[in-house]
Amino acid sequence: MTRRVVAVATSNPGKLREIRAILDECGLDLRAVADEVPFPEEGDDYEANAIQKARVAAEAMGVPALADDSGLEVDALAGAPGPRSARYGGPGLDDAGRAAHLLEALADVPREKRGARFVCHAALVRPDGSASSAQGVCEGRILTAPRGVGGFGYDPVFWIDDLAAAAAELPPSQKDRISHRARAFRGLIDALAALD
Ligand code: IMP
Repeated sequence: MTRRVVAVATSNPGKLREIRAILDECGLDLRAVADEVPFPEEGDDYEANAIQKARVAAEAMGVPALADDSGLEVDALAGAPGPRSARYGGPGLDDAGRAAHLLEALADVPREKRGARFVCHAALVRPDGSASSAQGVCEGRILTAPRGVGGFGYDPVFWIDDLAAAAAELPPSQKDRISHRARAFRGLIDALAALD
């Protein structure tokens, strides 16, 4: 039986691996969209950003397309960096540099005020232009030093109280059960199953 091809609008290998694992049971052929596709500049609305990225991918590939937009919301920074998480600290920083920049910004913030959450909006856009979207959240707090070598992005500085571990210390299968991305993409499973 041939599996349905669905494009995934991301050039982030960490995200692609997670999305494939989260949607494994759907039996889809998930294909990353080539880097040449010009994704739009992102605004400050996760859902609009995710839908816009999926729309560009669906139009470029002529198949249904998935995308997400995610960010880290830190209480002590009034919810920043939020949708701007990928650009936090300015251009020229890599994942480790952004995480270090965040730790510096929170240097004087005590443990009980370091609450934070990862937020993800996932979107599915069909070739006819119609869209579905879903949200997922993962609560935690920001550590004072990085821990763990797994995951990507801010995972080494994000502590999940429920699991008593940094996100970067979790085996992938465990992160994929509780993450903001897992919760958001699981909200699209019915829409994916209904694709004709
Ligand atoms: P975007 O969704 O591609 O715009 O990425 C948002 C930013 O949040 C990037 O800097 C990511 O590294 C970060 N981010 C999103 N999801 C995660 C995650 O699961 N772990 C760690 N960082 C994440």
